[in-house]
Amino acid sequence: MTDAARYARQIVMPAIGEAGQRLIGDSRVVIIGLGGLGNPAATYLAGAGVGTLELVDHDAVALSNLHRQFLFRDTDLGRPKAEVATERLTDYNPDIDVRAHVTRLDESVFDALLPGAAAVLDCTDNFPTRFAINAACARHRVPLILGAAIGVQGQLGIFRHDLPSAGCYRCLFDETGEAAEACEDAGVLGPVVGMIGAWQAFETLRLLIEDGEAGSRWLHFAPETRTIRAHEIPPDPACPIHA
Ligand SMILES: [Zn+2]
Repeated sequence: MTDAARYARQIVMPAIGEAGQRLIGDSRVVIIGLGGLGNPAATYLAGAGVGTLELVDHDAVALSNLHRQFLFRDTDLGRPKAEVATERLTDYNPDIDVRAHVTRLDESVFDALLPGAAAVLDCTDNFPTRFAINAACARHRVPLILGAAIGVQGQLGIFRHDLPSAGCYRCLFDETGEAAEACEDAGVLGPVVGMIGAWQAFETLRLLIEDGEAGSRWLHFAPETRTIRAHEIPPDPACPIHA
């Protein structure tokens, strides 16, 4: 920690304190996807002083991203999201180490980034990628914080792959299940992805300061009716991840 004043308003919280701030500063967190979820999640984790952020995204900034992806400007169009986000977040908090990975996901990326990571944030937007990230987190025993938002609905998964008897994303959803609606078709609102991305950051900080529950959780959030449903996910004996 090089600048206690920067984090004073969170260090003063009893749940964090100087010990919690040290845990946050010593942590390395992997954020996959720098879109509408990844923008707020990465920004709040950078602000909180997470020591190392690995930003993974192969995509480039497009004009249709800008209404919800506030790290990007018109002058960034066509540039890799991970690179632009790394520049902006390094500027935002020069204390921390932000690393850009402009690459598609494969096993070599997981094998390079996941060992020793404190958490992985899934901020992507499609089912095959989510299953691949879930399997990789299980293999490397890294907790996974998954966000999803479409239209005016949001979902959040906290999967404790670091614990022996916690359920996972594959326990909840079958890989042969229905195809996801895409953002392009269903639309997405900035504040809705913003809330879910910020919530991912919140749950990540809880994990880093060792304040999380000892189990997996799934939450469904409907901002229109201001309702949140949450339940625990026990491991499904039929899930191949736990076989
Ligand atoms: Zn499972």
